[in-house]
Amino acid sequence: MNTLELKPYHPGSEPAEQLTRGRRPDWLRVRMPDSPGYREIKGLMRGHSLHTVCEEAMCPNIGECWGRGTATFLLMGDTCTRSCGFCKIKTGRPPTLDEDEPRRVAETVAMMGLKHAVLTSVNRDELPDGGAHIFAEVIRLIHEMTPGCSVEVLIPDFQGNWDALQAVMDARPEILNHNTETVPRLYKRVRPQAKYPRSLELLRQARQMVPTGVTKTGIMVGLGESTDEILAVMDDLRAVDVDILTIGQYLQPSRFHLPIERYYTPYEFDQLREAGMARGFRWVESGPLVRSSYHADGQADQLIFREAVAG
Ligand code: SF4
Repeated sequence: MNTLELKPYHPGSEPAEQLTRGRRPDWLRVRMPDSPGYREIKGLMRGHSLHTVCEEAMCPNIGECWGRGTATFLLMGDTCTRSCGFCKIKTGRPPTLDEDEPRRVAETVAMMGLKHAVLTSVNRDELPDGGAHIFAEVIRLIHEMTPGCSVEVLIPDFQGNWDALQAVMDARPEILNHNTETVPRLYKRVRPQAKYPRSLELLRQARQMVPTGVTKTGIMVGLGESTDEILAVMDDLRAVDVDILTIGQYLQPSRFHLPIERYYTPYEFDQLREAGMARGFRWVESGPLVRSSYHADGQADQLIFREAVAG
């Protein structure tokens, strides 16, 4: 039986004041971003007319990540064809595809001197391939212009178009990421245009297409899921041989988005990490501020480079 009783605090370290719903706990407070590294990346993105998910999704880690010289590129514009209840990116009719974008992204990666580039996109369900050829082109160009730079792509589900997925896998991203986001019971509310079995199937197909590749997925917690439901998702993900799992706290981006049902404490995230590692994931990044691209360079360093050297 899949059970785990999460303890909010490490035994003996319970705080005087217990967590109350509504008030953002201290561990989720972050400083306003402002550093030379932050300003440099902002200038580069503006100068090349590029978008980042860091800005569009109002990621709380932007100060830390940009200060360290890392960012996640958002391909194919800033307008998404879907309307997920948790996401800050605007919904609407996206502009015509910018076929020159892959070149500008690859040039920017080279200028930033990245060792690991992370790319994601809005959903472009109106396109026959969902924009898969843009992902494939950027991966190829980055490998060409910045040899030794690994590429991680966080892709949409392409509405189950496996030819589109094949096109991305043929370009050989070092890490293929597709987020599960939440437990199946909450899909209708959280990701109305997505399907849990379809996301699992995508991860299974990616593994089959490139058996030696690294696959990755992420979930948010705090949307009303139970611990047993989280563990069941972990089991489903391991059944399709996913390597890396990220787990982070859902934060409501505005009052028009889904409410936060509960905050998980850092100690609860630790217990979820242990539960994931015990199930056989090669890496579990679990913490209040974890997002799918948070510390992605460290995961790549460990799973692609060091294990390859060790193996
Ligand atoms: S966690 Fe990802 S999305 Fe957030 S700032 Fe860092 S790189 Fe950007």
